[in-house]
Order: sequence, then C-alpha cells, then structure tokens
Amino acid sequence: MRNALSYHERWSEAWRSPEPKPGYDVVIIGGGGHGLATAYHLARDHGIGNVAVLEKGWLGGGNTGRNTVTVRSNYLRDPSIRFFERSRRLYEDLSATLNFNVMFSRRGQIDLIQTWAKWRDVRRRSLSMALVDAEYTIITPGEIVRRVPLVELDPKARLPILGGAWHPGAGIARHDAVAWGYARAADAAGVDIIQNCEVTGIRRAGGRVTGVETTRGTIMAPRISVAVAGHASVVAAMAGLRLPIETVPLQAFVSAPLKPVLDVVLNCPALHVYLAQTDKGELIIGGGADGYTSYAQRGSIHVIEQSVAALIDLMPRLGRVAMLRQWAGMIDLAWDTSPIISTTPVGGLFVDVGWGSGGFKAIPASGEAFAQLIATGEPPELIRPFGLDRFLRGRPVLETAGASNRE
Ligand SMILES: Cc1cc2nc3c(=O)[nH]c(=O)nc-3n(C[C@H](O)[C@H](O)[C@H](O)COP(=O)(O)OP(=O)(O)OC[C@H]3O[C@@H](n4cnc5c(N)ncnc54)[C@H](O)[C@@H]3O)c2cc1C
Repeated sequence: MRNALSYHERWSEAWRSPEPKPGYDVVIIGGGGHGLATAYHLARDHGIGNVAVLEKGWLGGGNTGRNTVTVRSNYLRDPSIRFFERSRRLYEDLSATLNFNVMFSRRGQIDLIQTWAKWRDVRRRSLSMALVDAEYTIITPGEIVRRVPLVELDPKARLPILGGAWHPGAGIARHDAVAWGYARAADAAGVDIIQNCEVTGIRRAGGRVTGVETTRGTIMAPRISVAVAGHASVVAAMAGLRLPIETVPLQAFVSAPLKPVLDVVLNCPALHVYLAQTDKGELIIGGGADGYTSYAQRGSIHVIEQSVAALIDLMPRLGRVAMLRQWAGMIDLAWDTSPIISTTPVGGLFVDVGWGSGGFKAIPASGEAFAQLIATGEPPELIRPFGLDRFLRGRPVLETAGASNRE
C-alpha cells in the first residue's frame, strides 16, 4: 500500500546487492531459478545461510527468463513422474510459500495425438501417471475442438488428429517472478546474491574444491554448486570435470496480445510446436530444439519457420496474428534427456544441470532436493535416480518422448 502511494519513490530493495565476502560455506554458480531456489532451501531447511549465489549477468537472465513457462508432469518413467509431480504440486502453493505472486495459473494441457505410436506412448504414460495419482487421460478429437475452438480438424491432413491426452494439473507461471520470489526469500534468510560476477575458474587442492576465481576476486568455499543451464560443461570443465552433456539452442516467440482465445496449454509433439496464452494476452509459442551445438543465444530461422507452419496447419486462423518477438536460450541435454542432480568425482563439487527444455517446472522440487544433497552429502530418494553414476551403472532415465524436444 505504502509503495503504491509513494509514486514509485523510496521503494525498499527486494534484495541487497552486497560485496562478495572472502569466503562462504557454500557458493552457488548461477542466479537462475535453480541456483536461487537451492540457496533459499539451504537457508530455510538446513540452517545454512552463509551462502553466495554468483551470477555473471542479472538474475533470471539465463533460461529462467527465456522459457515458455509450462509447468507439467506428464513424463514416462517413474522417477521423472514422481519428481515433476512433486514440483508441479509445489508450484500450486509457491506464491504463498514465498509470499510473492508467481502468477501460477492452472490451465491443463492437451497433447495432440497424430500417430498410433504416440497413442501407445500416451496410453503408457497415462497408466504410469495414475500410479502417483496424476491425471493424464485420452480425449477425443471432438473434445479437443470443444476445449480449443481454434483447432480445425482436417481428415485429409498429412497427420490428422486422432485424439489427445488431457493433463489437468498443468499450468503456467510468470518466469521472472519465480526468480525474483526465490531471490527475495533467499536474501531475507541471509544469502548473498551477487550479480555481475562471472566465475572464471574453480580452485582445487587434494581432489577437493576450495573456492572460485571470479571477475570480482577470489571467493573461498568448501562446497561449490553448479546450476548454470546452457553452460554446464563449460563451468564443470573449470574443475576438470567432463559431463555427458551437449548444448543446443532452443527458440521461442510471442504474438501481439490478443483477447482470450486459449485457456489450455496446447502441445503438438508430432509437428514440434506448443503454445499457451499468458495473462497479458500474448500467445507464447515454442518448438523443437535446433539440431546443432552452439553457445550463441539465437537459433536458425528454419526451426521457427517449421513451428509457424505447424501452427497454421493446426489453427489456420492464427495466420493473421502478428508476432512480436523471438529469442533463444541454450539448453543442456544429457543423452537420456533427464537432468543430472549429483555429487561429482571432485570433492565438494555438486551439479544441478542437464534440464534441457524442462527445467523451469522443476525449480521448486529441484531447489528443495539439491539443497538437501549439498547439506547432507546424500541425495534424497526423489533425485537418487538422477545421479551422474547412472551413466556408469547403465541405468539411464530415458525420457526422449516425455522431454518432447528429441522426439
Ligand atoms: C526457449 C525455451 C523454452 C523453454 N520452455 C520451458 C518450459 O515451457 N517449461 C520448462 O519447464 N522449462 C522450459 N525451458 C527450460 C528452462 O528454462 C530451464 O531448464 C531452466 O530455466 C533452467 O534454470 P537454471 O536456473 O538451471 O538456469 P538459468 O536460468 O539459465 O540460470 C543459469 C545462470 O547461470 C549464469 N551463468 C552461466 N555461466 C556462469 C558463470 N561462469 N558464472 C556465473 N554465472 C554464470 C547465467 O547467466 C544464468 O543466469 C525452456 C528453455 C528455453 C531456452
């Protein structure tokens, strides 16, 4: 109330901008949703407040502020379903938990089924999800058009719509607000959030990490956590660690604001396009990943062209909508397309990486579980299957269909 009446003057800062101290108990590299949520849970759940989050740019300036904001849990494998369902449920109460409006809005998601192979995949996913009381059920083409009148059914289409899968728990949230909410809560719990501070090296002695070199000096810490989507292999290499990860661009774009036309998240995996309508009215649209490795934060025009063509195939009336802007983020993918939340062979070094196109929805559960791993050295049951050792033990968590960017 006071802020509203002060004409934007003398607002108190949502978080401090402290100078880095010479040392911390834990240093987290990366001020995206994952790094900030982890810092918050270290302080809140484990009493470890002597923590620094080091961010080379601004908070949420990485993939957290570049994604298409979908929150869902319709995965294939048991560990993924359990993990993402936990995260989705945490999102439902996140505004209250953080006392910050993250604008989570439960919309439900429809996955279109256009091949019989997809039908079998959806049926299998729906049975697996029922085991954790998460709903994912098959609906008819008529039901799809009832829920999304923009969709036009064309029986002569190359891939006619055979049906859909309805995931009522899915929703969207405001991505910046998620980063800001966690930042404010972590700061209030004593965490130092240091922006414009790039980590350029990781110090080691006797097989353990001892600190980081940064553009703002050396900072010592016995535990270092890496949460840098898009730069996981680069930062891990600073500690001599090679991760089984490749990095590719993923693009998205938004339309000019429209009156309400879409109240679900609509996903078309066969044609590589999905969209939702934000509270501002923009259609936020994503597609498949670019097919090559890159660190440039832009993608190829032909990928966007494919997404737009698919969109107009499904909903010809959108052909008249003006597009406002396009961007890309770099996503890190392990070959099984599941995340890596793990200790590493380097003592004191922890990683929370490999989120591909799906780490925004993972922020609450990942922050909670990764903090426990850092605090205790032991992974909670929820994330045990996502350790680095799965590649040595031959226990990948194959999610190529569930992750939806490598189908
Ligand atoms: C176009 C697009 C659409 C997406 N859509 C969805 C979606 O709909 N739903 C979903 O769940 N997920 C989606 N994702 C994925 C999701 O955005 C990411 O998985 C998630 O944001 C990762 O969060 P993070 O905190 O790990 O990384 P980031 O938010 O990228 O944060 C990492 C931070 O580390 C910083 N950093 C990097 N190197 C250094 C260094 N050396 N020193 C200091 N700081 C460093 C970066 O500046 C960055 O701010 C999408 C991604 C993209 C690109």
